[in-house]
Amino acid sequence: MKRQLWALAAVCMMATAACMPVTAPETGQSVTPATDHATPANEQTAAIACSGELTSRNQEGPYYMTGSPQRDSLIDPGMPGLPILIFGRVVNQDCAPIAGAKVDFWQTDAEGRYDNSGYTLRGHTIAVEDGAYTIETIEPAPYPGRPAHIHVKVFAPDGRELLTTQLYLPGTEGSADVRAAPDLLIAYTGQDENGRQLAPFDFIVRR
Ligand code: FE
Repeated sequence: MKRQLWALAAVCMMATAACMPVTAPETGQSVTPATDHATPANEQTAAIACSGELTSRNQEGPYYMTGSPQRDSLIDPGMPGLPILIFGRVVNQDCAPIAGAKVDFWQTDAEGRYDNSGYTLRGHTIAVEDGAYTIETIEPAPYPGRPAHIHVKVFAPDGRELLTTQLYLPGTEGSADVRAAPDLLIAYTGQDENGRQLAPFDFIVRR
């Protein structure tokens, strides 16, 4: 929970205006959600709470494609699905931010289909100075044999691959995949004024 709170605070610091405080249902503490995923981060956060425990690795699967576009949102106009905003930081096990880390996402659409000929619902973002990243997307649907998930790869600024994993959506708690790697389950902590479910997640990777 601490990590979620500081991640929320970090995104607020990224926004230039209209950061409206909300109350986190789990704790009753006041936090502030993202208001503009496209606003670049320009401030360091004062304190980082970080467990130092490496984010679990998870299988790449057969559908990764290199060359995804850099963008803040994977949502195309008219795309159906529940909008979500995933945000947090990329840090190493010493909790030092990895500025310039590339966070590459790929996932199914709201009907459980991958685009394997183009880059629909594929894209990457670059972590800023304090390691913060954000990506707007939709909630993927499960497909046969798999709970709903979003694939992620994290690369160092020099291109080294640091992590291949998957994020599991709320509702997948009972799956064997999540039981094997419970830290990969994301939780919605609220909803912003754009109707996006807020999903804080920090990637903790090897140096
Ligand atoms: Fe998959």
